Amino acid sequence: MPEYEDQIVCPYCGDVDYDNCDYLRELKMDGDSTTVTCGSCGKDHNVIISISIAFLSEPIPEAPSHV
Ligand SMILES: [Zn+2]
Repeated sequence: MPEYEDQIVCPYCGDVDYDNCDYLRELKMDGDSTTVTCGSCGKDHNVIISISIAFLSEPIPEAPSHV
């Protein structure tokens, strides 16, 4: 079972890539993947994104009507 991290972690050297905003532009759908070159050891590795979205719905209070 692969482990998902909240940062991109190099599988070779364990370097954490905190600058993942660039990848979020091309990784939009759950399961999308791209090749990332580690800034520390220079090796290429795959990154697969896992996106979970949650919604909370609330009623909108009605404005009091003055008749
Ligand atoms: Zn690395």
